[in-house]
Amino acid sequence: MQVAPSVYFYPFTSMNENNCNSILIDGPEKALIDPGHKHLWPALKQSIEADGLRVSDITMVIHTHCHPDHMEAGEILEFDYGATQAMSLTEELFLRAKGLSFFAWMGLDEPKGSIGRTLEEGPLDLGDKTISLYLAPGHTPGSLCLHWPEARVLITGDVVFARSVGRTDFAGGNHMELAASIEKLARLENVEIVLPGHGPAVVGAAQVAENFKYVKNYF
Ligand SMILES: [Zn+2]
Repeated sequence: MQVAPSVYFYPFTSMNENNCNSILIDGPEKALIDPGHKHLWPALKQSIEADGLRVSDITMVIHTHCHPDHMEAGEILEFDYGATQAMSLTEELFLRAKGLSFFAWMGLDEPKGSIGRTLEEGPLDLGDKTISLYLAPGHTPGSLCLHWPEARVLITGDVVFARSVGRTDFAGGNHMELAASIEKLARLENVEIVLPGHGPAVVGAAQVAENFKYVKNYF
């Protein structure tokens, strides 16, 4: 569903399966953020196409972090459609060092694709728009959040949710780092829609401010 000009949100709702929310930013560079599990890709593909978008036009897959429920389908977009997979350099190093154990733990094959582009904190040019990337460690060492000020949209992965925060008890998690990352995100201006990696969006400037105030009580 479209939640802002050029921004499409695909929340995942199933009691029986785990998958993340996915987000598509439309434009000359179409970026899909967090494609989710491979076996659930057909459903996401169908939802994207129902919005009149073509998955073959997706040029970049941005992984907020390397957990399998967020990134596993990335290789389908790389192999079938030629999209480039991207994540932060810190996260790619973490994926190679410890992150692969998550795939084994969940009984999944190790990712066969490649991270064709590593991202740093700062501006990301998507052709007709510039997204601001923020490193937000704590849930994982190299988690990325994406802020598009003009659309007033903040994409948070598993750093912060509606009335909750990311887990820090997995490998690479760090409670103090997560607190600092959330402080950093809470200071951003021009945020009226928070699209988290799981659960509902937070919509409205007042609601976003209230949500940050609420989740700070976790620390
Ligand atoms: Zn995660």
